[in-house]
Amino acid sequence: LMRVSHLTKRFGEHTVLDDVSLDVTAGEVKGIIGPSGAGKSTLIRCLNGLEPIDAGEIWLDDTELTARKADMDALRSRIGFVFQDFNLFTHLTVADNLMLGLRRVRGLKRAEAETIARRELDRVGLAEKWRAYPAELSGGQQQRVSIARALAMQPELMLFDEPTSALDPESVGSVLRVMRELVAEGMTMIIVSHEMAFIEAVADDVLFMAEGRVVEEGSARQIFHEAREQRTRGFIDGIA
Ligand code: ATP
Ligand code: MG
Repeated sequence: LMRVSHLTKRFGEHTVLDDVSLDVTAGEVKGIIGPSGAGKSTLIRCLNGLEPIDAGEIWLDDTELTARKADMDALRSRIGFVFQDFNLFTHLTVADNLMLGLRRVRGLKRAEAETIARRELDRVGLAEKWRAYPAELSGGQQQRVSIARALAMQPELMLFDEPTSALDPESVGSVLRVMRELVAEGMTMIIVSHEMAFIEAVADDVLFMAEGRVVEEGSARQIFHEAREQRTRGFIDGIA
């Protein structure tokens, strides 16, 4: 579904991503772990076309995202993105946050957008928050709305960048539960997270990144229990 080859990204003199390659097949859940500053967020932003790259290629099926003439809006509508800090529009109700993309990007009529938006809000267990504003919701509820908003666009691939790291401990579980349901439904996902137990439980494949490079890639079992690289083991042991 997505193929990244030899991706390099610099901020000035600083090489933040150095020859990163990865493949995501349909239905796969890929976990990305690594220390702060490893380049995980930058990688996710590059995959969604939010960040220009300096070298390499990113393909979504047969379309090159990194081509000069790529239709970024069309490509981006195939990829859902959930940020650490929710990124909901605070001046809009939950309903309008959910319907905005459906109406503006997909061009749906209000009634059609509303049907989809209500269905997705129900799926994350927040049907009764339709008229609420983000500020009236807990962090975990806001993040579930943000997931519902991404799902409403019917993406083929969902990118998560530390979806639970800004949440209080009680809210983390509710967001992970929604993500587990997506896994069970077969959604293709790339998840950057420090929730190691969660990554180990849901990821088919795990990338360990440090200093802009993929240090090691393998099954969750291999990365968490039988890592080849000293650097990987040090990281896993350090946080276990
Ligand atoms: P964390 O676990 O703390 O979220 P990360 O792995 O997501 O870390 P990134 O946010 O991708 O790391 O940052 C990687 C490096 O790129 C860091 O050294 C950071 O300072 C640098 N960086 C990120 N964004 C920019 C930017 N817009 N301009 C300059 N440098 C940046
Ligand atoms: Mg980050």
